Amino acid sequence: MKMKKFLACVWVFSLLILATGCKKTRTQPEAAAQEFKWQVDQFADLRILRYQVPGFDNLPLSQKELIYYLGQAALCGRDIITDQNYKHNLTIRQTLDAIVEGYKGDQTDPQWEKFMIYTKRVWFSNGIHHHYSTDKFLPEFTPDYFARLVKESDGVQFPLVEGQTLDDLIAFLRPILFDPSVDAKKVSQDSTKDLVTNSAVNFYEGVTQAEVENYYKSIMDKNDPTPISYGLNSKVIKKGGKVVEEVYSANGLFKPAIERIVFWLEKAAGVAESDLQKRVIEKLIEYYQTGDLEKFNEYNILWVRDVNSRVDFINGFIEVYSDPMGMKGSWESIVNFKDLEATKRMETIAANAQWFEDHSPTDPRFKRKEVKGVTGKVITAAMLGGDAYPSTPIGINLPNANWIRRTHGSKSVTLENITYAYDQASLGSGFNEEFSYSQEEVDRAKKYGSLAGNIHTDLHEVLGHASGQLLPGVSSEMLRNYHSPIEEARADLFALYYLMDDKMVGLRLFPTLEAAKADYDRNIRNGLMTQLTRIQPGKTIEQAHMRARALIAHWVYEKGQPENVIAKKIKDGKTYFVINDYQKLRRLFGELLAEVQRITSEGDYEAARDLVEAYGVQVDRELHQEVLDRYSKLNLAPYSGFINPDYTPVIENGRIIDVKISCPDDYVKQMLRYGKEYSFLK
Ligand code: ZN
Repeated sequence: MKMKKFLACVWVFSLLILATGCKKTRTQPEAAAQEFKWQVDQFADLRILRYQVPGFDNLPLSQKELIYYLGQAALCGRDIITDQNYKHNLTIRQTLDAIVEGYKGDQTDPQWEKFMIYTKRVWFSNGIHHHYSTDKFLPEFTPDYFARLVKESDGVQFPLVEGQTLDDLIAFLRPILFDPSVDAKKVSQDSTKDLVTNSAVNFYEGVTQAEVENYYKSIMDKNDPTPISYGLNSKVIKKGGKVVEEVYSANGLFKPAIERIVFWLEKAAGVAESDLQKRVIEKLIEYYQTGDLEKFNEYNILWVRDVNSRVDFINGFIEVYSDPMGMKGSWESIVNFKDLEATKRMETIAANAQWFEDHSPTDPRFKRKEVKGVTGKVITAAMLGGDAYPSTPIGINLPNANWIRRTHGSKSVTLENITYAYDQASLGSGFNEEFSYSQEEVDRAKKYGSLAGNIHTDLHEVLGHASGQLLPGVSSEMLRNYHSPIEEARADLFALYYLMDDKMVGLRLFPTLEAAKADYDRNIRNGLMTQLTRIQPGKTIEQAHMRARALIAHWVYEKGQPENVIAKKIKDGKTYFVINDYQKLRRLFGELLAEVQRITSEGDYEAARDLVEAYGVQVDRELHQEVLDRYSKLNLAPYSGFINPDYTPVIENGRIIDVKISCPDDYVKQMLRYGKEYSFLK
């Protein structure tokens, strides 16, 4: 399971960064942070950011080497995800790459700019369908212009199949690129139609949904307590009238790319941190060589056991969101290493879980007598590949197989250098300035916003969800459709209540409670106003986290009216919300936490419904329109992706003596280079 930015339970992002692995100037960390250009490109609804890899330079050589090899393996699967997304994607991408390299004609032509935007979108989505909506996006240049580009590109190779001419290629691609009705949707969710034949994703060919269902019904063993992940690593086709699976492996489908992945994994196994990690990597290799899903189970079991290694990775056919049938894994890889400082921060909070529980403002009957914080780790992403590049999750919880999670556990990670990059990029966007009432708020957000956001997330995840208990005979299902927003509100209120506690300074999580103010500012602003940027005009709030935030902000706003705790102010025709008394606001958070905990512990459905419906669902139409207007003037792209760092081994006498990291800022260059150096499929 992955958490995407904006969809995640983890919803505030950032980190306390002390030194950076990219462009690092240790003596002047602040100056370095200011110089670093986080956003390097923006087009269509996308922006391209960079991320830093703090701490890389200080890793021992063997771990740098391990990251380098695993990073190479991560890049070798780029063609796989491109092909999985749609069967003509590789031909399209190779054609676009050839034009970008070979066309030396008039590049001031407005059509050229449109061509480049289209190409960059194809790179971003690993194909011609939008990475998020999965709709096919269309070029804004003409088919004739496209034909001209192909013909006037010199000294480059187009992906021609035998006997094919350039004219044939142009004629072949024309409807695929320009006809909106051809393969319009990558993943169809319309269950009134055949999900398989109406999805352009390349997991099935020549088969219907019913045939796929019957096939898997015939091979699945329903009584197996330790089942394999059926269909995870294969394409289903028809051969001689029979439905069969073509398995992805070093001897099957995607052979040339998987062989390269295995090549680098073998090198990685040679510098593994421990015997266990070596076995993890070797098991993965065995799985790639055979395609045997039993081996993938064994690999996952070993992988969850390996909690002590500093360096870790994901590499394989993992998430099934792109399959309308929810079986086929999209290839992805993330190479990372543990952020020791931030993980310590999480552990400090978890170690004090009982203190927090005992001091919470909830009724003693609803408190947990023995509370254990949920532990996870904070990681630094070092390389993104496949489905995780350029668009990447901010949190991951794997493996996905339920029985393995139950029996052997799972790993939950937060990619903090990624959320930090998001945060830093948004600082320069004008968003805070637009919706903050005073310069003081803006400055406070700059200074403490990241840190406070992280602690908020930790408190929410590590303590909030793990706190409290249900009365005997009560189950969480009793709140039915209001369970999720109430649960999210409960975890959030737990965090908000404690952020303003002296304990935060006592545990050295905050240097001062000014940091908490920054988070209060953001939560009130967001719950009352800015999260409306994600709601269509005329719609109400549906998503559970958004309902929770609206509920909290509207409730404390209303209850604080007699004492003017939060003031609504109008300046130059714009609306702002200003907190007048942070301590009183904290008390209100505590009151609401007590009530939400009561609702949860007693399973009080009516009270849950009334609270959510009264404060968490409805949208003030006038304010909504105002917020949308102000937001659109900022010209912000809603989706982001990342350029990877480059790793260069320093070799002396045939041995690697160091690995250098650099953070390139040219998106086009990186994509063209990957297209050349990591392209193994046709
Ligand atoms: Zn949550």
